[in-house]
Amino acid sequence: EPVIRFEQVRKEYPDGTVAVEHLDLEVREHELMVLVGPSGCGKSTTLRMVNRLVDPTSGRVVVQGRDIASTDPVELRRRIGYVIQHVGLFPHRTVGQNIGTVPDLLGWDRARSKRRTGELLELVGLDPDTYTRRYPHQLSGGERQRVGVARALAADPPVLLMDEPFGAVDPAGRRRLQQEFWRIQRELGTTVMLVTHDVDEAVRLGDRVAVFARGGRLEQLGDAVELLAR
Ligand code: ADP
Ligand code: ADP
Repeated sequence: EPVIRFEQVRKEYPDGTVAVEHLDLEVREHELMVLVGPSGCGKSTTLRMVNRLVDPTSGRVVVQGRDIASTDPVELRRRIGYVIQHVGLFPHRTVGQNIGTVPDLLGWDRARSKRRTGELLELVGLDPDTYTRRYPHQLSGGERQRVGVARALAADPPVLLMDEPFGAVDPAGRRRLQQEFWRIQRELGTTVMLVTHDVDEAVRLGDRVAVFARGGRLEQLGDAVELLAR
């Protein structure tokens, strides 16, 4: 049973733009699936249909065996991590408080939340003693993305959605973050859907790569090595 399944999904925005058409796609458990393709071909729309930031016009999106059309979006988003390019940390909350956002909503006690924050900062390569009490404006772009990843992973979500997560980081830092993220994903086994327009990133990170083309169509699907060989 795949963790995420798109069945004949179509998304037409109210202005008539068809963003996604005839999409059938399955994401397996523990898989890092990359969606790649030029700008405007429906990658972000596809991703956002998994946490109901966007709902399909027709077809179904099934997550962990359930058609999410009947799932409360707020409840869904607590189970699904989401990381975007400009990660949107809460500016008036410390790094620790940012990472604790979902645990707080879930009512975790302080000790558990604190332990988890420390673990996650270690995981993303930031020393907890140095970073827990800093504010977002005291961080570099790369450090902010790391905190964004830590926040998204805080409640150990089975699914993580990432939309150009390293796009705002300088090229040298990006390469390092990609490698570290790859290691983290292997370690945790989180099922990930990651959107990028960068083919190198797709090949470096993806277990499988879904290539989208203009008009919101899935053009090719395969493992990264296969696609590279074509
Ligand atoms: P990508 O992530 O591949 O760049 P998107 O999913 O963001 O593509 O967009 C796909 C198409 O849908 C584009 O033509 C885009 O302009 C359009 N689009 C995206 N969001 C909206 C919206 N809220 N309203 C109307 N059109 C949109
Ligand atoms: P406040 O100052 O608002 O009472 P704290 O700054 O003590 O809150 O804690 C906010 C969050 O930061 C906690 O939920 C926890 O996740 C994290 N946190 C605080 N101190 C530490 C610490 N020493 N190590 C790891 N995480 C911490």
